[in-house]
Amino acid sequence: MLSANPIPIQPIDHPILNEKQVQLAVLRLDLVHEEVSGNKFFKLKYNLEEAKRQGKTTVLSFGGAFSNHIQALSAAAKITGLKSIGIIRGEESSKTNPTLSKAVENGMRLHFVSREEYRRKTEPEFIAALGKKFGDFYLIPEGGTNSFAIQGAREIVGLTQASFSHVAVSIGTGGTFAGIADRIQDDQILMGFPALKGAWIKEEINHLLRTEGIIPKGHYQVMEEYHFGGYAKWKPELIDFIRWFWREFQIPLDPIYTGKMAFGLWDLIESGFFQAESDILMIHTGGLQGIEGFTAMTGEVFPQLF
Ligand SMILES: *Cc1c(COP(=O)(O)O)cnc(C)c1O
Repeated sequence: MLSANPIPIQPIDHPILNEKQVQLAVLRLDLVHEEVSGNKFFKLKYNLEEAKRQGKTTVLSFGGAFSNHIQALSAAAKITGLKSIGIIRGEESSKTNPTLSKAVENGMRLHFVSREEYRRKTEPEFIAALGKKFGDFYLIPEGGTNSFAIQGAREIVGLTQASFSHVAVSIGTGGTFAGIADRIQDDQILMGFPALKGAWIKEEINHLLRTEGIIPKGHYQVMEEYHFGGYAKWKPELIDFIRWFWREFQIPLDPIYTGKMAFGLWDLIESGFFQAESDILMIHTGGLQGIEGFTAMTGEVFPQLF
């Protein structure tokens, strides 16, 4: 079983917030578990229970070479006594990086496939071929989003009794957003900040809500302006913001997901988007393990972690 650490809600104090008369606090899901961090803890917990319920001994999933999901799955599987297999996008050259080394250390078996093969990750024939190769497994989709993941994500806002007017969260596949959307109250607004570029994200969110039968009581909106060019794309101002946020509040952000969300949220606060008396909850979905890989890729060093 995965057990959660206490999850603090950290109030943020800054002159801009006083000036705009808004309150801001951060729900520190990054602290939920040492190895299974952030939203991945919630997305994996019912999946691993289900795998066990089905009598499976192995879980298999997909991800890129720096995937938070792959790293978290490797750790969660180890803790719950399941074997794990990671199907990794990219050729051998990406074989060694901190994310994958950690996964291997956790006992995960890695299998590298070309980008073309990787695109087939939802095709039944491709899955069947993986079954031939690796034997029986419990399949978790790329990014971990399925009904069991959304079930876990529903628990996130329940972690706070306080009533917020707005809840802000990063979006990858949208599974976490969908789970939270099911729990917001009719006077609350959920704001999602995609880490990827594309108008398809809104459709994907609506598709997820429909297939899960979720009809949010409150409003929800997708803020499409803060992806910085796309997944894992960045600009110096994003890095500067992450450094500034650490200096001001001692909260580490990652450049792939939470940094973009926090940048967007802060930009909206500064530009007067929020009415006076707004009370905003920022959800820190974790992802800090990816920083080492990002640093290796870009040379951008984040002082707080090194
Ligand atoms: C995976 C991840 C997300 C995206 O979650 P989805 O449920 O796929 O939308 C957001 N933040 C962090 C830090 C993540 O690792």
